[in-house]
Amino acid sequence: MAQYSQSLLDDIRGATDIVDLVGRFVNLRKAGTGWKGLCPFHAEKTPSFTVNPRKGIFHCFGCGVGGDAFGFLMRQDRLSFPEAVRALAKTAGIALPGQGGDSGRDELLKAIGLAARFYQAELARPTGERARAYLEQRGIDPEVAKTFGLGYAPEGWDTLLGYMRSEKIAEETLITAGLAVQRENRAGAYDRFRGRLLFPIRDLQGRVVAFGGRAFGDEQPKYLNSPETPLYTKGNLLYAADLARPAIQTQNRAFLVEGYVDCLMCHQYGFTGTVAALGTAFTPAQLGLLRRYCDEVVTFFDADAAGQKAAARAEELLEPTGGGMAWAVNRAGAFEGGRTFRVKVALLPAGHDPDTFLRASGAAAFTERVTAARSLLSYALDRAIADPDGATGARARATAFARVSLMLAKVTDAEEAAAISREAAARLGVDGTQLWIEAQRLQSSLRTPVVPPLPGPSLSTPPVERDLVALLLHSAEARTPLLALLAESDDLAHGALRAIVGALKRRPDAAAESLMTDLETDEARSVLSSLLVEDRESVDERVSIEQFQRRLERSQRLRRAREVSQSIAETQAKTGVAAPMHTELRTLHQESAVVYGITGGVAQSLEHGTSGSPRSSDE
Ligand SMILES: [Zn+2]
Repeated sequence: MAQYSQSLLDDIRGATDIVDLVGRFVNLRKAGTGWKGLCPFHAEKTPSFTVNPRKGIFHCFGCGVGGDAFGFLMRQDRLSFPEAVRALAKTAGIALPGQGGDSGRDELLKAIGLAARFYQAELARPTGERARAYLEQRGIDPEVAKTFGLGYAPEGWDTLLGYMRSEKIAEETLITAGLAVQRENRAGAYDRFRGRLLFPIRDLQGRVVAFGGRAFGDEQPKYLNSPETPLYTKGNLLYAADLARPAIQTQNRAFLVEGYVDCLMCHQYGFTGTVAALGTAFTPAQLGLLRRYCDEVVTFFDADAAGQKAAARAEELLEPTGGGMAWAVNRAGAFEGGRTFRVKVALLPAGHDPDTFLRASGAAAFTERVTAARSLLSYALDRAIADPDGATGARARATAFARVSLMLAKVTDAEEAAAISREAAARLGVDGTQLWIEAQRLQSSLRTPVVPPLPGPSLSTPPVERDLVALLLHSAEARTPLLALLAESDDLAHGALRAIVGALKRRPDAAAESLMTDLETDEARSVLSSLLVEDRESVDERVSIEQFQRRLERSQRLRRAREVSQSIAETQAKTGVAAPMHTELRTLHQESAVVYGITGGVAQSLEHGTSGSPRSSDE
C-alpha cells in the first residue's frame, strides 16, 4: 500500500491533528492524556472509543477497530488509502508528487465543485438579477448568501453543459453527479437546474456534493433537489453541518430546522449552530450525526401543528429501525455520569417558522422560545392523552391509557420514561405502576432482535505473542536483540502480529505509529493500534527483554534441532541407516542440551502455535 514514500506519509501524519480530524465526526471529551467518545463504527452507549494525540492514533475498545489518521478517514468516509492520503495532504498543505489515478469520486467532486462556482458567479451577473431580487425580498443578507455559497442556475437547457464542455468535463460525469439529465429516446443531456436559486449541500468536510434548487414563482416543483448520487445519500447529511459544527460543539447544542431559508436566517441572526434536515422528517442517521457533536438538539414547531408533529417525530425516532440508532437516541447512556441525548421542541406562534419568526420578532424573542423548549416526548404525550375527537369519560381514558402505554414501551431512557409515566399517570388519573406494568408488557412484545455490532477485527491475539510484539513496538532497545532471533512464521501464530513484526524487520528504526501505513489489512492496523494504546508503565523492559531473549533462543535452537533431525531422516531415507551422521548427530545433541538447560524457568513457550516442532521430553 506504500505508494507514497514513508517520509511523506510521516510528514502528513505529523501535520494532521488527529483530535481535530476525529472531532469532526465524534464528540470527543478529554480523558486523561487522551480523548474519548462514542465509537462511530459501532453502536454504543458508553464511550469506548479513544484518540491518542501524542501517538496520532485512534482505538475502540468496544469493537476493536483502530488506526492512524489515514485509517480513520478511510473508514469514516469510505475512502481508499490514496484518497485518504490526498485528503489529509490537502488539509495539511503538503504537496503530493504526480497527482494521478483519480478515482471516479474525485472526478464527481471536481465537477460539482466547478458547478458550484459557476452558479455562484451567475448569481452576481446581470442574468442573476431575479435571484438577487428574491434574496432581498426574503431578507437574506448578501454576506450570508456568500457564506452559504448560494448560486443561480440560469434559464436555458445547456448553460451549465456549455461551461463544462469548456472545462473538459464529460457529459457522463455530469449525469452521474446529478447536474445533467439524460435525454429520453435520443442522445445528449440537458441541465437539471434551470431558472432556480441554488443552495449547495456540503458534506462534513465542506465539499459540495449536491444542490437544492428553489423556484422563484409558482413553478413546480417548488424545490428541486439533486438525485441520490455516489456522493450524496438523502437523509445522511444535514444542511450547513460543516458551517455549524464549531458552534454546535462549543455550545453543546444544535438547532434543527426544516428549510434552507430557516437555516440561513438562524445563522444571519447569530444562531450559527443551526442545521437543516433537508426534508420535513429528520432521520436517525441525522440525529446520530448531531449526537457526536452535542448532547441536545432543539427543533422548532409551530404551535398549531406541534402536537401532531411531535407525535410523528417521536414515532419516527422511537421506532426500532434495525440500525440501533433510533432506540439509542433516547436511551440513557452512562456517558460520564448519565449523559443522554435529548430532543427538545421550541414552540413558535401559529403560522410561523424560524425564518418568519426571527424577522418578525428578532433574536431575543427567539432565544426566549428556545429557553422554554420542552422534551419532544412530553409533546408527544400531550397528543397521546388528548382524545382526537375531544371526548372525555371512561372510554376515552381507556384508549388514552393504551396509547400512552404504547409510547412508553418504546422509550428506553429509564429516566425519561419514569418522568413521562409520572406525568401521564397524574393526568389520566391512573396508578403510575399500572401504566408502567402495561408498558413493560408491550415492550417485551415489541422487542426486535438486537442487531449485533459490526464484526470487528479478531483481537484474540495469544498473550505471549502480544507481549512480545508490544515490547518490540515500545522499546527501541528490545528491537536489535529480539528481531534477530524472531522467525515470524514459527514464533508468531497470529497473522496480524506476524505482519507487524514483518514491517518492523523492514524498518527497525521506525516509530511504532508510523508502521501503520506499512500494514496491508484493517485487522493488522487495528491490532497495532490496540498495542499502541496499552499502558505499559508497569512493564520492566530489561527483565522482559531478557526473558524473551531466552525464550526466542530456545525456540531458535528447537528449530535448528528440528532441521537437523529432519535432514538426518532424509539422508537416512536416501542412503540407508548406515550413512555417517556423526557431525549432525553431535549438533543435535548439543542443541537439545542447551534447550533442556533453558527450559527450566520458562513456563510458556513460544513454539506453541507452530506445528511439527519436536515436543521432546523437555516439556
Ligand atoms: Zn467501536
